[in-house]
Amino acid sequence: MAADPSIETLPTPLSGLHLLLTYECNYACDHCFVWGGPSQTGTMTVESIEQILREADTLGTVEWIYFEGGEAFLYFAMLRTGIRLAKERGYKVGIVTNAYWATTDADALEWLRPLAGSIDDLSISNDVYHGSDEGVNQAEIARRVAKRLNMPVDFIRVAAPGACDVPAGVGQLPAGESAVLYRGRAADKLSSLVEAKPWEQFTVCPWEDLRKPERLHVDPFGNLHICQGISIGNLFKRPLVKIMREYDPDSHPIVGPLLVGGPAEIIRHYELAHEDGYADHCHLCYKARCALRERFPDVLTPDQMYGDI
Ligand code: SF4
Repeated sequence: MAADPSIETLPTPLSGLHLLLTYECNYACDHCFVWGGPSQTGTMTVESIEQILREADTLGTVEWIYFEGGEAFLYFAMLRTGIRLAKERGYKVGIVTNAYWATTDADALEWLRPLAGSIDDLSISNDVYHGSDEGVNQAEIARRVAKRLNMPVDFIRVAAPGACDVPAGVGQLPAGESAVLYRGRAADKLSSLVEAKPWEQFTVCPWEDLRKPERLHVDPFGNLHICQGISIGNLFKRPLVKIMREYDPDSHPIVGPLLVGGPAEIIRHYELAHEDGYADHCHLCYKARCALRERFPDVLTPDQMYGDI
């Protein structure tokens, strides 16, 4: 990996780049941050993956490349190619999947065997939102077979709305159970299931390090998301090293207010109409952003992240 000599001037040592290989998914889970579903559009090509990896190389700080979605296994050839290209460059590689493909142990073996030896983390969604066909738990099968192949593997679980004593998770959710965060489709589908709290109390972003992000998501259009639907630049239009060097959180139209006073500050700063209460910080943040999309089309993008399918 050839690092750019100006790397010392970067405000944050980005260690993980999470590639949204596709917005498409065979499921359309209520809790999905990115509105993944069968009618979504936007998938990376070999060329775009190569370009993203070249950009990652220039930083010299990236250690992990994740492939997620949507559902990354829907584009298996692209996934395999991306993994090979990332490994050739010396990155650790992770995948996030709903394991829809693990219908039997023998079938799961066929899917995973070509990836054996190349995967440093296989994260499998296994919760009430992800389907299982006719009583078959594909997540369990996938984990069992991955272990047989000595592939590091764990479950990601999202708890039911309102479940108590569950730590919240972000982006690539931590292993174990995480709370629902009411952004993306979850804001529309699940927020009414929990008690609303006064909007003024959401005065911080509790989940993302907006000032010094260690990992970012990049989508098939090149948007670099500091949180799903909040872009800090497009790496198909500007070099990644330049985006990172020039990232000024305080002057970013959404991150700036978030740092001053959380989602409530977005409401105050832009004098937005609002409800009295919201399910959580992300619910207020997401709804405020929806109201600002026309004003900041390059930042609050793409349509896919806002359910405009
Ligand atoms: S408050 Fe906003 S920026 Fe922070 S994690 Fe929630 S949706 Fe993302």
